[in-house]
Amino acid sequence: MQTELHSTIGNATGAELRLATKLIAGAYQSRHGQFAYEAFEYINSTYFADTLPWPLVVWACTPYGKCVGLTDSGSPLPLVLLHSRAEMLASPPYAFDVLVHECIHVAVHYLHGGGTGETSHNCPEWRSEVDRLAPLLGFPTFRAGANKVKRVPIGDGSLTKTGKPATTTARVSEATFDGQPVPYAATVAGFPDGLRRHLGRAAADYQRPLPFPHALNSAAGR
Ligand SMILES: [Zn+2]
Repeated sequence: MQTELHSTIGNATGAELRLATKLIAGAYQSRHGQFAYEAFEYINSTYFADTLPWPLVVWACTPYGKCVGLTDSGSPLPLVLLHSRAEMLASPPYAFDVLVHECIHVAVHYLHGGGTGETSHNCPEWRSEVDRLAPLLGFPTFRAGANKVKRVPIGDGSLTKTGKPATTTARVSEATFDGQPVPYAATVAGFPDGLRRHLGRAAADYQRPLPFPHALNSAAGR
């Protein structure tokens, strides 16, 4: 039985796997499970030209309380967790943003060979995906600049022995919106939901319907 199962898994085609995961999501997680795959298919085709590896998407409590999503890329195919907290369950556009964020992690790991920076959110691969997606998600003037430790003037008028303004090291965000600096953690690391919140647009944006039919649509009549 065990061997039979292993060979079935090993021989499963992409189409079978896609169907199986969607069936399981719908069977065990009902409309939210269905929604997760409807959203994933839209994100994959609209923003990633259908190049992302097929994930298992599950609604659950993520291991770190403050993460609203989590991607485990330790397997040949990604496992994406969406936090089943009330705000996420109640707001398809919010959950959509979180899934976009997780899909960027999937792209960095599976399409770009992993991040080469300090952290998974502070690396050139993450930033280049954010820059590519920002205009597609309605943020044409956002630039995901680097987040570096730099020498900056202390600014209290003190001078070095050679008479130059004294400096100290500080972490500086080079991310900008409309040409103005914006904090890295909120806007680049937390993209796109964090940027939306930083701009004060989340409340309004999350009232808008998503651009594809889905199981959580009230028009679905359930
Ligand atoms: Zn992340």
